[in-house]
Amino acid sequence: MNTPTTVILASSNSGKLNEFNRLLKNAYINVVQQSDYNVPDAIEDGLTFVENAIIKARNAAQHTGLPAFADDSGIEVDALNGQPGIYSARYAGEHGNDQANNDKLLAEMKDIPEAKRTARFRCCIVYMRHAEDPSPIIADASWEGQLLFEASGKNGFGYDPLFYVPTHACSSAELDPDTKNAISHRGLALQEMLHKLISSNS
Ligand code: IMP
Repeated sequence: MNTPTTVILASSNSGKLNEFNRLLKNAYINVVQQSDYNVPDAIEDGLTFVENAIIKARNAAQHTGLPAFADDSGIEVDALNGQPGIYSARYAGEHGNDQANNDKLLAEMKDIPEAKRTARFRCCIVYMRHAEDPSPIIADASWEGQLLFEASGKNGFGYDPLFYVPTHACSSAELDPDTKNAISHRGLALQEMLHKLISSNS
């Protein structure tokens, strides 16, 4: 019988923990939150999603001696040269203030016509076997859409109410969670990570 490997998730978001565990249980990986081990938050001073994900995973592995996952995600808006990008969570200043971030983005985009409101969510997930791992496993994915002119929908978090999903003709805050997980940047990156983990063990 396979014994599950314990891996730290460098995040204190319990929604993310559930998503990781749901998808990775068939790979005999038990994902636990870094707050269970009193891991201090890392300083996210990278300039790309992958740098920030590596910084967070390395910090968690260093403090626990266990392998670690981390993800970094955000929204890139073409009319704003890819901003807010890695600064998505703190676009309006205060970290994680979704309402302020959305208000700022709508204000920046108020004169941009529909055809030029293209945007995408990106997610990068890394797996580090230990803090000095020289070749982390990296999975990334994106999800194409368009920015709405006003918020719509109550599900999800962050920029979901502003993100129009052309394949489903609604905002991502109007998708049920299972549908979002099946098509989103984070869901796709997690599936890619699962495949890479399985093939790295074979
Ligand atoms: P982090 O990866 O947890 O640091 O999240 C970065 C930020 O990007 C979040 O605070 C949200 O503002 C935004 N974001 C990332 N993924 C999503 C998503 O699936 N829906 C809406 N906003 C998202």
